[in-house]
Amino acid sequence: MADPHHLPNIFSSIVSTACRVVPALSHVDPSKILVCVRKLPPTRLGETLGLREAKERRGHDPIFSKMTVGGREILYVITFNVSLVSAAAPARQALETVMHELWHIAEECDGTIRPARHGKAFNATVAALHDAYQSVGGRPVPTFEPHTRVRLRHLRGKGRPGILSVRRDRSLAAAVPKAWKQTWTEDDVRERTTTLSRLLPMTFLYVCPLGHEIVRFRKLSKASSCAVCSPTFDRRFLLSFAKEKTTT
Ligand SMILES: [Zn+2]
Ligand SMILES: [Zn+2]
Repeated sequence: MADPHHLPNIFSSIVSTACRVVPALSHVDPSKILVCVRKLPPTRLGETLGLREAKERRGHDPIFSKMTVGGREILYVITFNVSLVSAAAPARQALETVMHELWHIAEECDGTIRPARHGKAFNATVAALHDAYQSVGGRPVPTFEPHTRVRLRHLRGKGRPGILSVRRDRSLAAAVPKAWKQTWTEDDVRERTTTLSRLLPMTFLYVCPLGHEIVRFRKLSKASSCAVCSPTFDRRFLLSFAKEKTTT
């Protein structure tokens, strides 16, 4: 059997290239990043955790965790959703997610998170980073057919290294789960091989009477109408179930 595609290495090499060729990312040191690839909830394409807090608060340790993997001191853990490499994923999605997560890294690249909120300006920067990378011939994230064997990487234990919160009403400390422990080593890094199709979320395709196609990650539990045709519920534009598929 052919060797599985090592997705963490594929994403790591794209991260390194992006940091080298995109001037706006030159502050990012890729050796400080541990890249994981695993199944995340369908709407979450990636997540970035910084292991240091920006400001030292009184009586509060500015260090969340220490991580050393392969002799490298890790300051950031970036996890990508495995669905990004599906052949059915939208064209710019994977590369834009790489740029999005890298843009969360603070200018100091010291384990803290850039104080920027999600929104229009953030997305515009991400699109510009994506285009800058492509304009110098940066290679795209490869996509694979559902039967492909792939290698994944995640952290042991609870598995999710925590969710970055850049919402203003919540401090980053609050976003770090209690299960997050103090010291991490390569013993906590787990890899496994599986078939891509086993990880892709089930999707449900619905159509409205005018032919708009709506993809949902769950079966609709009650009658719903097409949001394109009418912003509020309208019986004339009821969605009907078209098909179920395993790739998204
Ligand atoms: Zn984000
Ligand atoms: Zn419609």
